[in-house]
This record gives sequence, structure tokens and C-alpha cells, in this order.
Amino acid sequence: MSRFRTRNFEAAQRAAERRKREDEADRLQAVVPTLETLRLDISESRGGVALPESTHIKRVSVPHAPALFEIPCLDSWCKEGGHDVTNEVLRALRSGATQFEGEHSCGGRSGAADCQRVMRYVGVATYK
Ligand SMILES: [Zn+2]
Repeated sequence: MSRFRTRNFEAAQRAAERRKREDEADRLQAVVPTLETLRLDISESRGGVALPESTHIKRVSVPHAPALFEIPCLDSWCKEGGHDVTNEVLRALRSGATQFEGEHSCGGRSGAADCQRVMRYVGVATYK
């Protein structure tokens, strides 16, 4: 298999595993019944340098979303990486925070080196 195919296969496998975890997770609406809307403004940096192409907004579909916040690492070569901020985000939502933020360092490997990407998120939530 070429490197490209291997990478696609691994990505597909990771996506399938993530979907399985999402299916098995509690529903966000059940965990935080008062939550109405939620979005996460996400950006990544490496070595303190912002990576503008990584900036994006994740809008969470509250009625359908799982209570699981695993943001994939955006380095396409990163292996075993990603940002699981489920506990931090749920804690903020349970406390009724309307704006909260945090950071998470990727623990994956990119090629022969550690990935070293840092994901930063700002959550904006509204409640019923
Ligand atoms: Zn990574």
C-alpha cells in the first residue's frame, strides 16, 4: 500500500472509532438539559505560532450531539493525536458558563517528531 492509501485507511479507521464512541456516549441534552446553543471557536498553534488555516468554528447541534468533545488534530500527518476536552467543556456547561476557554496540547506524533500542536478553544453557550 502506498503511504497515501495507508494514511487514508488510518483516517477512516479513526473516524469510525470516533463515531462509535459518539454513538455510545450520553447525549449532551441529557447531561446539560438547560443548554440551548453551543459553539466552539477553535484555533491551533505550534511553538507559540498561530496557524491561521486551523481556525474554525464548530457549531454543536445540541438536540443531537453526544456529550463528547474530541476535536481532531488538524495536522494531517499527526498520528494518535487529537484533543479530548470533554471533561473541561462539560464542567463549564454544567456550571452554566456562557463563555469559557481552554487549551489542549496534542499528544500525537507527526512524522518522526512530537506533534506539538496546541489547540485553543473558546466556547460560547446559551441556556434556556
Ligand atoms: Zn497532532
